[in-house]
Amino acid sequence: MAETGHECMRTHYSKEITPELNGEEIIIQGWIHEIRDLGGIVFLLLRDRDGITQVTAPSKKVEGELFKQIQGLKKESVITVRGIVQESAKAPGGVEIIPIMIRVLNESKLPLPLDTTEKVRAEIDTRLDSRFLDLRKHNVSSIFKIKSRMLHSVRMFFEKNGYIEINTPKLVASATEGGTELFPITYFEREAFLGQSPQLYKQMMMSSGFDKVYEIAPIFRAEEHDTLRHLNEAISIDLEAAFCNHEDVMVLLEQMVVNALKDVKEHCTQELETLGVDLEVPELPFERVSYDDAVDLVNSKGVAMHHGEDLSRAAEKALGEIKDGYYFITQWPTDIKPFYVMHSDEDPAKSCAFDLMYRDLEVSSGAKRVHLHDILVEKIKNKGLNPDSFNRYLAAFEYGMPPHAGWGLGAERFTMCITGVHNIRETVLFPRDRRRLTP
Ligand code: ATP
Ligand code: MG
Repeated sequence: MAETGHECMRTHYSKEITPELNGEEIIIQGWIHEIRDLGGIVFLLLRDRDGITQVTAPSKKVEGELFKQIQGLKKESVITVRGIVQESAKAPGGVEIIPIMIRVLNESKLPLPLDTTEKVRAEIDTRLDSRFLDLRKHNVSSIFKIKSRMLHSVRMFFEKNGYIEINTPKLVASATEGGTELFPITYFEREAFLGQSPQLYKQMMMSSGFDKVYEIAPIFRAEEHDTLRHLNEAISIDLEAAFCNHEDVMVLLEQMVVNALKDVKEHCTQELETLGVDLEVPELPFERVSYDDAVDLVNSKGVAMHHGEDLSRAAEKALGEIKDGYYFITQWPTDIKPFYVMHSDEDPAKSCAFDLMYRDLEVSSGAKRVHLHDILVEKIKNKGLNPDSFNRYLAAFEYGMPPHAGWGLGAERFTMCITGVHNIRETVLFPRDRRRLTP
């Protein structure tokens, strides 16, 4: 019979049960990870949020009714176990629990659509279809505990540096960059879109005197391609700072990255160990590679790339073979960057834009922005866009817009760098990609 479980509350999580508790009565709660009935003795592994405890029931020590109950338990059912801690060299963690009472709070249906044993490998699609079960595996949940800690440390870093958290709309009237990668939606009697980036809003905030802002929120990209690095809904960590140039915000970005890596390394030791990751914290500053030098490096690897082109996937891979950690690519050609990116004073063909790369993966893009109204209008026109559709944005540049710079960093891509997973879907609870809209 299923029960609510309120009458006996958990006293310990698995990871808190140490040999020092020998002889104490405790209550643990969780899922039946595994159950092995050897006739005279039953071993039950109870799994909770961050650990597994062995419950050992020898028929000689456990009362008859209880022994029979344990024999009838089903894998992945939710249970409460009251029992005595016993030191045991053979049990995982050096302790086992001799049960006094077991309550089944909810019995699981069998067979399971997905095995919850970490060793049993399944295709990513099968896993995502039964994501709630997949997430019970500690090697999967560890990714999300790390992502959570990373986001926490990013927020703390921004707060410490005087940044104000903002929230900008995700229902927007027009494209940020006039691109085609937008999801159209019906907004009452007109068409609207899901926001692809908070870019224009965070820039308008620079004209409002907030000086330093950040936003951690979803971005929606209707990209058709189905790759291991693209999602159709991702979380962007966005920052914008007034009275700053691109070099200032690059320094902030590299400090934020190192700070997050240090913090994760310190607070997620168990999760990193579960994933088999020996997290390296790089030295500051990160290497700055000019776009022109990056092109030469790509060509040196036998991958054809002309000056003026964006990095192809093959080019990114070539760079990844040469560069092992984090590095910036700077001085991008103005022509291949969006209209809001400022060109360099010395050479207008070069821009004040940068990308932060980790091996072959783009993690962040940023730039010093155009803060002068007339130049901005000119650049919008040069991209074949109509300035009229940007009039509310452009107005913010006519009444005192300070110079400013900023960047956007993909939370999932950064999580990939930290955890070493190769498929970005692994870093999202319920990913949205070209083929997946459920669960
Ligand atoms: P890419 O060239 O790799 O497609 P992008 O240059 O189009 O990326 P930006 O518009 O510069 O991306 O967005 C800033 C950051 O947001 C990227 O560096 C990346 O970390 C993240 N990002 C952008 N698009 C996606 C996406 N579709 N899925 C996951 N993260 C993304
Ligand atoms: Mg980019």
